[in-house]
Amino acid sequence: MSLMKSWVTSANSADTPFPLNNLPYGVFSVGEEEPRCGVAIGDMVLDMAALEAEGLIFVDDEGAFDLPCWNEVMELPPEAWAKLRGDLTAMLAEGSDQQAAVEPHLVPLADATLHMPLMVSEYTDFYAGMQHAKNMGAILRGSPDLPANWLHIPIGYNGRASSVVVSGTDIHRPNGQRKAPDADMPSFGPSTRLDIELELGAIVGGSVPMGQTITVDQADAMIFGYVLLNDWSARDIQGWEYQPLGPFQGKAFGTSISPWIVTSAALQPFRAPTPPREKELLPYLDSTIDGLYDIELGVFMQPAGASTATQLTKTNYSRMYYSAAEQLAHHAIGGCGMSAGDLLGSGTISGPTPDEYGSLLEKSWAGREPFTLDTGETRSFIEDGDTLTLTGAAKGDGYTIGFGSCTGTILPAIKIPA
Ligand code: MN
Repeated sequence: MSLMKSWVTSANSADTPFPLNNLPYGVFSVGEEEPRCGVAIGDMVLDMAALEAEGLIFVDDEGAFDLPCWNEVMELPPEAWAKLRGDLTAMLAEGSDQQAAVEPHLVPLADATLHMPLMVSEYTDFYAGMQHAKNMGAILRGSPDLPANWLHIPIGYNGRASSVVVSGTDIHRPNGQRKAPDADMPSFGPSTRLDIELELGAIVGGSVPMGQTITVDQADAMIFGYVLLNDWSARDIQGWEYQPLGPFQGKAFGTSISPWIVTSAALQPFRAPTPPREKELLPYLDSTIDGLYDIELGVFMQPAGASTATQLTKTNYSRMYYSAAEQLAHHAIGGCGMSAGDLLGSGTISGPTPDEYGSLLEKSWAGREPFTLDTGETRSFIEDGDTLTLTGAAKGDGYTIGFGSCTGTILPAIKIPA
């Protein structure tokens, strides 16, 4: 597929993240206005609440867009998602006879504050990257062997929806318990091994009632879209608490997502197969669909006061072993209900070489091999004031599907009264 031309001329360049081919869904406000649904196009945001109020767009009688989330749309069937996308594409396309009516409802992105694009109903985080799982084994247990279940189950843990925040939200370094291997007692205080995890978040649309199950193919059709996701991780807290349950507090202090939901529809030209199965999957996980996507991913670190960010990592979502559809089908197979707004973290995305590792624990090999930033400073983990940014882009023929960045600055730990 090639670039689709829009009358919004800033959407027609090869490097805008928001061409007509993309049309990602977000929530925005200007000044003191109430947050509402918007669609990014070039360097503008289309005010969906205003379009709906004027009768220029319609999904149902209740209205779906004068809200600070896209959940009402996610709850509609996939045919309604396709119709909405078709209507938006037609009204923004070059030569559209709706241009004069729609143009007054474009707001410059530069003037907009972006908010959480959805109400996260529940949050689950997986561990579906093979290189990451092998690295973690080598670092933490001295062996790169995968856990015995890994090639059979997309393993994960139930996280906290309350921890998920939009890009740009500052994160306090968490306090918690940690214990050095040679210490008699645990101590309490700010994490000293604060880390990121480069992930993609899949957003579920529709629902699976408790007790019902879905196939991988049905699950694939239920994925509304994707966001970049940074699963901030306190490795020292995690390492002490997770024996044998967890992660718990080491992951519960913040999870950042990018502000735009890139729809599965926009990503269709970029579908990629899961890698060859090293062990045959059980029938309920078996599928022939190409469940991954060719999405280039980056991680950048910028210390406080530095004028530039250093790129730490460049990898690709197609490196994963399990797809979001496989994870969703697995999630529901035991009877767990799933609902619109469910967020599924992919697991850390790491490629085969250190320049593709998706966490600092891997980059610095648990602090044994600190890395150097463009400023000359070295790092093993995150220091207070560091800003970490994730980027993502699918590259088409003369166009780019972007996510907007997923960024967060680490603030000092909150002082706990003695
Ligand atoms: Mn994670």
